Amino acid sequence: MRFVTIATDRGPRACGVRPDGLVDLAAADPELPASLKAVLAMGPDGVRRAAEATANARATIDRASVKLLPPIPNPEKIVCIGLNYRDHAAETNSPIPSAPIFFAKYPNALVAPGDPILLPPESEQADYEAELVVVIGRGGRRIPRERAMEHVGGYMPGHDVSARDWQLHRPGRQWIAGKTFDTFAPTGPELISADAVADPQALGVRLRLNGRTMQDSDTSNLIFPVADLIAHLSAIMTLAPGDLIFTGTPPGVGMARNPPVWLQPGDVVEVEIDGLGTLSNPVVADPAR
Ligand code: MN
Repeated sequence: MRFVTIATDRGPRACGVRPDGLVDLAAADPELPASLKAVLAMGPDGVRRAAEATANARATIDRASVKLLPPIPNPEKIVCIGLNYRDHAAETNSPIPSAPIFFAKYPNALVAPGDPILLPPESEQADYEAELVVVIGRGGRRIPRERAMEHVGGYMPGHDVSARDWQLHRPGRQWIAGKTFDTFAPTGPELISADAVADPQALGVRLRLNGRTMQDSDTSNLIFPVADLIAHLSAIMTLAPGDLIFTGTPPGVGMARNPPVWLQPGDVVEVEIDGLGTLSNPVVADPAR
């Protein structure tokens, strides 16, 4: 089941995706909520019901006529995992972590597919990172590893844009400072339900900068797979429906290149994940620049 969220004058609306267009789920089935995270909170029953409503609807919405939003426009949490690919840890001269390392973005960083990434005048070193994003379905605390996958609602491509000067070279080396600038968390374009992804540890992940492949790996290289991340994070915090987990980036980032590659106005960045689709965003200078 493929989902998008669209902007309407009634606010964000979750839609099912069909080849011939989109189906507004709550309009097609009054027992379905309008928000995608609320659909995912219903677990497999919600996804099944959404699939039925999508298949049975008579009329569809022309996808080209609406504005896509981030699939989850209003998550309670955006948790990001650092150094979760062995070869990326090596390229940044970092030790292989013995437990997941995490940081956060705030919802101010979310941006829709196709919308611009704004380069802030405060940074000279904006970098790209392609990532698989896990979206929590049913929430929970202290979720055991062997039950963790039951709490995954779906998956989508994500882009962890990173201001390296703020992340690494400011007092306290606060990763979050470099990670949560406005527009630094594109996601989408679609959310793919968990039942439609046979193995999240077997997905090709690629990033193209102006058409040139800069990252090309797959999620079998994750140091901590999805179930480990959910068990680890939920030992600390209650995971809520719609929470996003950025699972880390593979090698090939701009800061590890010689000379380094920083995002520039006019660039186009595409994050492609097998079976999930391609997230494309242009890069522009923040008008305040
Ligand atoms: Mn990252």
